[in-house]
Amino acid sequence: MDKTKFLNQLKKQTPNEDEFHQAVTEVLESIEDVYNDNPKFETNKIIERIVMPDRIIMFRVPWMDDTGEIQVNQGYRIEFNSAIGPYKGGLRFHPDVSIGTFKFLGFEQVFKNALTTLPMGGGKGGSNFDPKGKSDNEVMRFCQSFMTELYRHVGPETDVPAGDIGVGGREIGFLFGQYKRIVNRFEGVLTGKGINWGGSWIRKEATGYGLVYITQHWLTEHGTDLKGKRVAISGSGNVAIYAAEKVMQLGGKVITMSDSNGCIIDEEGIDLNLIKLIKEIERGRIREYIETRYNAQYSKDRNDVWKVKCDVALPCATQNELDVESAKILVSNGCLMVAEGANMPVTAEAVHYLLHQKVGMIPGKAANAGGVAVSGLEMTQNSMKLQWTPKEVDDRLYHIMSEIHDACVKYGKREDGYVDYVKGANVAGFLKVANAMIDQGLI
Ligand code: NDP
Repeated sequence: MDKTKFLNQLKKQTPNEDEFHQAVTEVLESIEDVYNDNPKFETNKIIERIVMPDRIIMFRVPWMDDTGEIQVNQGYRIEFNSAIGPYKGGLRFHPDVSIGTFKFLGFEQVFKNALTTLPMGGGKGGSNFDPKGKSDNEVMRFCQSFMTELYRHVGPETDVPAGDIGVGGREIGFLFGQYKRIVNRFEGVLTGKGINWGGSWIRKEATGYGLVYITQHWLTEHGTDLKGKRVAISGSGNVAIYAAEKVMQLGGKVITMSDSNGCIIDEEGIDLNLIKLIKEIERGRIREYIETRYNAQYSKDRNDVWKVKCDVALPCATQNELDVESAKILVSNGCLMVAEGANMPVTAEAVHYLLHQKVGMIPGKAANAGGVAVSGLEMTQNSMKLQWTPKEVDDRLYHIMSEIHDACVKYGKREDGYVDYVKGANVAGFLKVANAMIDQGLI
């Protein structure tokens, strides 16, 4: 494989998709040796095929706001790869999204889903709609319009979306209601559903819990654990909140959290009930935290999260939020490891720096795979028309995260004993998908 030539060509064919190029570059760097050692990948043009989505669906989403004015947003669904199962991946509602965002997320999802050991292909989608500041009725009208187009492309055996940034339990409820109304079938077309109507226990907690389970495995491998460890977390959404919860359950101390406007630093340890009240119930801003916790500090610079001395860093907000400058501060402060709760939150330069410093660096496609893993378990429960107990699901999640950890070690161990989890995750995911594509012929 001539990596440079291939990447130059890809950039020419898909201009202005920087995040997608970043994700592809990382995978190509990791799999280069495996690819070159197995000529069948080249013969079958696997790289050329795997970077191109099966299809991209784009559609108009018209809806009416509370003042009676018509609003129009862009909807997307990228069905990236179905070599090992139906397309599976979240929906993101955020004003900054573009086709490049969804291509990067969909591409990552293909390998992540392969790592879970469950039969799921990769997809991603969403809209430039911003739920922030909208009333529940506006969100409902938007979701109904979005699903009125999306329903014809998805289904329990075809494509099963879930939540992501800006899409939580409320949005999944509105989307599911509209799907059911149109097709007149109650079926598992979405995951992240309510517990009383087809959802799985632990789905809400799964990404954050899974992130901490794999972190725990890394720490065990390095002769330590989370007890008494200082943990810096960014974000204060679904992933961040439940990562913080599990860190605290395992004896760690969470010092920071953030949102898109700023961050809080609480040396006494974050009061998670207060965060849940502000973020989950009141849908407020994180700065409100210091109105109750007087000893905590608020900073308008959300990068300050990484300036606090910590043992473990868990970026859980959004892509490219932890740059090389922040990585250098983390390392100089003695940080042992970084595990990506968000998708690609650590910039490419920062990833290279951390690996060079031999600091732990677990990439999102391994570290945050717990969410889609429990989504896969929700699909299984829906097919069987039963619901497992919280313990049963949590045990399975723990087991899957252990398997992902072990796969990273298997394929990422260097001769000097250092484990490159980025390489390990990419190689393990790639081999599974690439071999399935070859088995299924030229499609
Ligand atoms: P939420 O919408 O629940 O929370 C997102 C958090 O990140 C909020 O605190 C938000 O702040 C912050 N944030 C969003 N955009 C930006 C931005 N541009 N700059 C700074 N902060 C930002 O999303 P999730 O917790 O579900 O997702 C977080 C990350 O985890 C994403 O990368 C997502 O793809 C990834 N992920 C999520 C999974 C899931 O199961 N939910 C599964 C696997 C990965 P604010 O409130 O100000 O917008």
